[in-house]
Amino acid sequence: MTEVVKVEIDRERCVASGSCAMALPAVFDQDEDDGRVILLTAEPDAGLRTAVRDAVLACPGGALSLIEN
Ligand code: SF4
Repeated sequence: MTEVVKVEIDRERCVASGSCAMALPAVFDQDEDDGRVILLTAEPDAGLRTAVRDAVLACPGGALSLIEN
């Protein structure tokens, strides 16, 4: 069975630190106007699971969620 890594963002909680976009530019970007997170891909490659998990834990706003099936 293929494992799926799914990411969700809550832009209301994002404090625009930019750390997720710096750590994982293939998955996250920052809005040019308000600096808040933009999700580039909701289902990143499973090989990025650990890095995504780290980014979720490191988010100072608690704005990121990881759903693992
Ligand atoms: S790490 Fe969290 S607070 Fe910082 S830009 Fe990403 S989602 Fe926003």
